[in-house]
Amino acid sequence: MIDIKNYNKDNVFGKILRKEIPSDVVYETEEIYAFKDINPQAPIHVVIIPKKEFCSFDDFSRSSGEKTILEMIRSISIIADILELKKGYRIISNIGDFGGQEVPHFHIHMLGGKRLGKIVAP
Ligand code: AMP
Repeated sequence: MIDIKNYNKDNVFGKILRKEIPSDVVYETEEIYAFKDINPQAPIHVVIIPKKEFCSFDDFSRSSGEKTILEMIRSISIIADILELKKGYRIISNIGDFGGQEVPHFHIHMLGGKRLGKIVAP
């Protein structure tokens, strides 16, 4: 289990879910919210989050109910279709300090719109 143990409601994605700050929505279900990243790292960069509170993928994988897991995973190909990512795309989830996670609400990055480089910069 990684170090982040308690969910902090003050994180920016919690604020987006509560509509305290704006976001550019791409897709939404009962369980899932997907929106454009404010600092895109590719021509298309979307962040997919569960509406329920999980600190990271590690927390989500251990603690989430099956409906949330199913909607989260299924949402990826649905969003790829919405964004017409026919030539492929990349999904990434940063986990904890060494994983480079900045926002402590579980999220999956979806990147596309061009041929992407290596997963990890040399
Ligand atoms: P990570 O480093 O994996 O935690 O990713 C956090 C991501 O959240 C970064 O790509 C940021 O650009 C993005 N981000 C931070 N604030 C916002 C915001 N208000 N709206 C959309 N994306 C955001």
